[in-house]
Amino acid sequence: MGKLSEDLFSKATQLIPGGVNSPVRAFGSVSGKPVFIQSAHGARMVDVDNVTYIDYMMSWGPMILGHAHPFVIDAVKKVLARGTSYGAPSPLEVEMAEMICEAIPSVEMVRMVSSGTEAVMSAIRLARASTKRDRIVKFDGCYHGHSDSLLVRGGSGILTLGIPGTPGVPNDVVKDTLVAPFNDREALTNLLSEQGSTVACVIVEPVVGNSGVLPPDEGYLQFLRDITRQHGILLIFDEVMTGFRVAYGGAQELYDIRPDLTTLGKIIGGGFPVGAYGGSKEIMRLIAPSGPVYQAGTLSGNPVAMAAGLATLKVLRNQQTYSDLEEKSATLQSSFESLAEEYGIPLTVNRVGSMLTAFFTEGPVRNHQNAAASDTAMFKRFHQLMFEEGIYLPPSAFEALFLSLAHSTKDLSLTAEAAEKSMKIIAKEFELGPYR
Ligand code: PMP
Repeated sequence: MGKLSEDLFSKATQLIPGGVNSPVRAFGSVSGKPVFIQSAHGARMVDVDNVTYIDYMMSWGPMILGHAHPFVIDAVKKVLARGTSYGAPSPLEVEMAEMICEAIPSVEMVRMVSSGTEAVMSAIRLARASTKRDRIVKFDGCYHGHSDSLLVRGGSGILTLGIPGTPGVPNDVVKDTLVAPFNDREALTNLLSEQGSTVACVIVEPVVGNSGVLPPDEGYLQFLRDITRQHGILLIFDEVMTGFRVAYGGAQELYDIRPDLTTLGKIIGGGFPVGAYGGSKEIMRLIAPSGPVYQAGTLSGNPVAMAAGLATLKVLRNQQTYSDLEEKSATLQSSFESLAEEYGIPLTVNRVGSMLTAFFTEGPVRNHQNAAASDTAMFKRFHQLMFEEGIYLPPSAFEALFLSLAHSTKDLSLTAEAAEKSMKIIAKEFELGPYR
């Protein structure tokens, strides 16, 4: 780590809790200290000490076109000159709503908010109001933002830091959050046969990204669709990460399932703070001012964020986006897999489109428990070694890597070279494969 990052981090820790504005940015579970970024273009980030990295975090998902994409930057510049927030409706909000509804048929009406957390929190409120029931069901290791009722047994930073939930959330709030294991039909069937009539919604990351990537077993999402219908429960797909990522129409397009409510974020903001939730007209009309369920936001539908998001969606819609991303991501997956095999390293790569996680375990990794059983010491070493080679992986064993349209063949081969060096060292240090 360079001197300027080192100095900034020591100053930051005096001024900002843990020195970071979101826990997942800390390097506590890997090499200790984060570097500070000065700029990013395409698939590269440059830190304040002028070290360049090939980025596989892509701001945790939003930067699917690559950093500072010219079409997005131009759109933002144009709108900036016309003012940055009005607190009154603007045309870009209508265009955004139209693009989202066109892309995702289960969403007939949509409300913009300013973060994924806010989107999910509001969707839950709406589900409770619509069903007149209080309980919610979430899955072990899924992360749905940091609102009180959803922090129970969460993924992402909660999982990385090894904490079950968080102080400051009243027991009265979490008593209505029921937790089920992901990809386990029997457990949910039993839970709902006892409590189904009191449950407002089942919320799921249709492809889990926040325990690392966990794809749904074949037929599992259809099972969720059927069982929720059977009990009069709303099914919420939290597509904050998967929306416009695993397919233009999100995981619901890829797996051909229509949830009742969908939450979005990340990509639809093109790198600006955004979230959205939507569903059928019937349900969405319950939201104020057309209905009684209150939800509001000073910066909701912010014109700068709308411009960046719209520009991003237009590029995604008009290019060979998803086949390109699939090809690049499959290349990265197979380099990791073949190197692991060569060096006798236990590795399971889970991937759906351009989100993937390499778990240091024999696998299969189907749920949070399997993920948690992977070798975090080996991951930590891999992360350190890759970082020294200029490859920026998310600093946790339980997060997804994201590829973008900007990752080039050269980037992928540089990454494979770095992975080869790193895995060779790991095999030696852990006495694996040829070094057993
Ligand atoms: N839902 C999911 C599936 C997420 O991955 C995240 C963030 N990683 C959120 C909700 C919360 O979004 P935000 O950080 O924008 O509040």
